[in-house]
Amino acid sequence: MVKSLANVAADFPILEHKINGERLAYLDNAATTQMPQPILDKTQNFYQTKNANVHRGVYTLAQEATEAYEQARQKVQHFIHAAHANEIVFTHGTTESLNLIVHSYGEQYLHAGDEIVLSVMEHHSNLVPWQQLALKKGIKLNYINLTKDHELDLVELKQKITNKTKVVALCHVSNVLGVINPIEQIAHWAHQKGAILVVDGAQAIPHMCVDVQKLDVDFYAFSGHKMLAPTGIGVLYGKYELLEQLKPWQYGGEMINHVGLYQSSWADLPAKLEAGTPNIIGALGLGWAIDYLQQFGMSQIADYEQKLLAYLLPRLKEIPGITIYSPQQQLASGIVSFNLQGIHPHDVATALDQEGVEVRAGHHCAQPLMQTLGINASVRISIYLYNTLADIKQLLTALQETREFFT
Ligand code: PLP
Repeated sequence: MVKSLANVAADFPILEHKINGERLAYLDNAATTQMPQPILDKTQNFYQTKNANVHRGVYTLAQEATEAYEQARQKVQHFIHAAHANEIVFTHGTTESLNLIVHSYGEQYLHAGDEIVLSVMEHHSNLVPWQQLALKKGIKLNYINLTKDHELDLVELKQKITNKTKVVALCHVSNVLGVINPIEQIAHWAHQKGAILVVDGAQAIPHMCVDVQKLDVDFYAFSGHKMLAPTGIGVLYGKYELLEQLKPWQYGGEMINHVGLYQSSWADLPAKLEAGTPNIIGALGLGWAIDYLQQFGMSQIADYEQKLLAYLLPRLKEIPGITIYSPQQQLASGIVSFNLQGIHPHDVATALDQEGVEVRAGHHCAQPLMQTLGINASVRISIYLYNTLADIKQLLTALQETREFFT
């Protein structure tokens, strides 16, 4: 039996804070999410009673810390339906996970004349590392555009995956448009041509059930802080046979098997790719966040977010002078981007902040997408399981007031 989401906001102490004297409506969850009291308590308890480094000491505290760290890895494994726990590499976040692939896989296996397929909707984290590799090695980048409805152009994508394509690297969900890309279908197309599929799952994992085996992705990257865990922890999932081939990208403690003065050998997966003391509390926090989310079930969370969007969208559309960039279908990801005619998005976000409504304004680390949309910036609303109808109503009232103030 899954727990009801009815009272979930009460678990998040930050939501009781007033912002500029107003009730806080936190609607910037695509940037980072808040932590519930049970995870805050567990974090404090770990430091008060259990703190030790992992994979080193033989004493009780060290063994318990190691066990908890490895249990967190197993929780991630089961959460994303990976076949083995050693396919889960802990990193600092999506950005580091993607850089790891580019650095290790890209450096080892991509050569001049090869091609990489990306889309114009990528976050800079899934664009700049590939771009820099391409510049260094003489690799061609092929970008997929948007359809007129602001979805990924699948016709173009299918055409651009050719025998020269070595990597297809795409987001599962766009952090600006909220659009969900059909990853399983794309994996099939990539594999037909012998390419691997790398997926930036930063905005998908917090909001939906992800099964990496069903999707048949080769690598999948995400961040803990967008799903209730602390900042500074992330995951790189990779198929075992691919991770196995990768050379380490950082060297030092933890990742070695034997070290001599002139030669060394490497530990087995995943330690080979986790040099140095890891973010232990981050990994534990991610495990606790998974436990917390699973009480409610990812499908209940997705349905709930869908209901809030179903209330929000028609009312948002009625605001005179609004342009909504997110496609109107497929909005299960909780993200809506828009602009109000004649008002700079930063002014909109500042005015909303005065009313206690926290949203993001800017290019959202997606400058090529902004260029494609013909804008410099947008306002972005992003919801999560602890948002309520009261938050949405507060946002809509504040938006009306903002428009009236500026026009
Ligand atoms: N990819 C997407 C789609 C994102 O939304 C983000 C963060 O906003 C990232 C990558 C980068 O995540 P992080 O900063 O946690 O590494």
